[in-house]
Amino acid sequence: MKPEAPAYLGLDIGGQTVKGLRLEADGRISLRTVRPTPASKSAAAVLDAAREVVEELLGPGPAAALGAGTPGAVDAAGRIAGEAVNIPGWRGTELGEALAGFARAPARVRNDGNLAAYAEWAARGGRAKALLFVGLGTGIGGGFVEDGRILPGIDDRAVEIGHLIVHYGGRPCACGRSGCVETYASGPSIGKIAAELALKPEWGGSDLAQALRSPGIRADARAVYKAFAKGDELARAVHRIAAEALARAIASALALLAPDTVVLGGGVLAGAGALVEEVAALVPSYVYATACEGCRYERALLGPEAGLLGAALYGASFRLERPGFLELSRAALGQ
Ligand SMILES: [Zn+2]
Repeated sequence: MKPEAPAYLGLDIGGQTVKGLRLEADGRISLRTVRPTPASKSAAAVLDAAREVVEELLGPGPAAALGAGTPGAVDAAGRIAGEAVNIPGWRGTELGEALAGFARAPARVRNDGNLAAYAEWAARGGRAKALLFVGLGTGIGGGFVEDGRILPGIDDRAVEIGHLIVHYGGRPCACGRSGCVETYASGPSIGKIAAELALKPEWGGSDLAQALRSPGIRADARAVYKAFAKGDELARAVHRIAAEALARAIASALALLAPDTVVLGGGVLAGAGALVEEVAALVPSYVYATACEGCRYERALLGPEAGLLGAALYGASFRLERPGFLELSRAALGQ
């Protein structure tokens, strides 16, 4: 059965996968799909995977618009404007133009952290005025949305909060600098710090340390927070290190952006909800008091799919008047 009106497509294009969803005009998500990006991960291979995803999403009928998120810098015309560590040759790709061709509909491309922020803003149905999103995953990304407008900076590069330096001369970061918050509070960093501390004699009594000393055991944030839930001492110390680093970065962001809502999300948060409370308690130590007034801290409402939902809604926002858009986002985000 054909839907009554054309749908909106959302794409999340990363180095590992291309994910897509189809949002019907009534707010129903009728289709989700995912393709791994081929091992070569060249720009052409990623585009091929994106084309396959779009073709599948068009199966039930045409699209009115497409929104897509991708890591790094992207200009207003949807051209990739910076290097992506995990997609060689991605810079210069005319992604917006390519996607519009695949979808036979207007396509908008934005930084993925900005779109996740956009979805979390929309999910609060106007309750948040100025929302800072911090996504903890394999790295740390973010975005800032005020009254429904994404803060872009040049080429959508604003709010790369993962690379705020929180310890001078600290842990080396993939960006080439050291001491970035990402090196203390991303999923892999939380695991790495736990593995390093586990080797120290003072954590001998910790079950987590015992487990991490066994050969072949990979430390990750999930294992750390599982142990944290059981009151493990080492897990508590690692949690404190991550929260402290996040609090410093977020405190600086408060001074710059003055959000009324700070949202922590991303894959790491699935098991690490305790971070929200801890960060909220620590932020005031790192910024003047007025900067903290009227700011609340919340867990993401949408989970790891925020960026994908944000992409579809962002595409729709260009085709719908405000009342229609609010109705669509309410239905899509289950409010
Ligand atoms: Zn960095």
